[in-house]
Amino acid sequence: MLRTTLPKVSTRVFVRNLASHASFQPTTSSAIRTNWTRDEVSKIYNMPLMDLVFKAATVHRQHHNPAEVQLCTLYNIKSGGCTEDCKYCAQSSRYTTGVEAEKAVKPAEVIAAAKEAKANGSTRFCMGAAWRDMKGRKNALKNVKEMIGAVHELGMESCVTLGMVDKAQAEELRRAGLTAYNHNIDTSREHYPKVITTRTFDERLQTIENVREAGVSVCSGGILGLGETADDHVGFLWALATMPSHPESLPINRLVPIKGTPLGDDPAMKEKQLTYDTVVRTVATARVVMPGSKIRLAAGRYTMKEPEQAMCFMAGANAIFTGKKMLTTMCNGWDEDKAMLEKWGLKPMKSFERVDKHLGEQSHDSKEKKQCGGGCNSATEVRL
Ligand code: SF4
Repeated sequence: MLRTTLPKVSTRVFVRNLASHASFQPTTSSAIRTNWTRDEVSKIYNMPLMDLVFKAATVHRQHHNPAEVQLCTLYNIKSGGCTEDCKYCAQSSRYTTGVEAEKAVKPAEVIAAAKEAKANGSTRFCMGAAWRDMKGRKNALKNVKEMIGAVHELGMESCVTLGMVDKAQAEELRRAGLTAYNHNIDTSREHYPKVITTRTFDERLQTIENVREAGVSVCSGGILGLGETADDHVGFLWALATMPSHPESLPINRLVPIKGTPLGDDPAMKEKQLTYDTVVRTVATARVVMPGSKIRLAAGRYTMKEPEQAMCFMAGANAIFTGKKMLTTMCNGWDEDKAMLEKWGLKPMKSFERVDKHLGEQSHDSKEKKQCGGGCNSATEVRL
């Protein structure tokens, strides 16, 4: 891969091998901004839905090959027994959900699962552990690093979600070969305390900052259907879109209510049930305000019919979790997903095709441009 740094290019242009991506022509893309106002995000979110999808599809085509969808497989490396109180989670030790606390799995098992995922076409492998944080988990960290190294050796992008980490831990993970660290903000700042009380929204942001500063790609998104309002969707997207740089990956989960959890057992949740159009609206708004991020349809995708998923791809989603399971909930399988992509003229994204650690530097104002030469490397690269 050749990299040429072009100073004074204010928007990212990706040029790919046009022989193999014949239908994709790069265009002058809209700038990536991190200075959105909440009102601006709200206006986009509240556009007539078809107009919003059209706008999102247009932005998507300016920044991505619209034929590509990343296939990612999630593997649970430590199930249950988590001390946190996330009101949607089957793995919290505070709720009786039938999910027992298990010991962390050995690296060999995880590596075998990564090989299986690769053989089935996944190019990113995500490993999740039900931990609050990594404090005092030296042995666990050693094992996770071994897993990351093995996934890297397989030529796959790696991602882990291990709870809160400090900068030193994030750096250790980067040195082991980690591509991305997942830490969701879950919902808006306002709605967050109604869902989780054992760690604050700001603690979430701190972990994300630690990861970013360590030079690891940030994967951060949330869950729709936690009893929130439309304004909370706006607040959620605004929080992500105004981070110092946009998350490289943005998972959008749709709540799968689990019996035994407070949200799964709350009869009032039936009235607040999420409608499909809200999912599309959120995906499309995310695409417009975070043009460079990968928008990942995550848990609950199996509840959407195929044409509903296709509409999400049209609205800018370009990554999915696929495989046997989504931690404790169901997942669409590899064969089903490959058939779906083929039917809709889509194809799996190659690994490391798009891993942008710092999405958003283009929002530097002109004064900053003078000081830094107009953009940081990732914002001014032409990739051939
Ligand atoms: S979502 Fe994560 S942090 Fe929250 S209870 Fe579940 S495993 Fe623990």
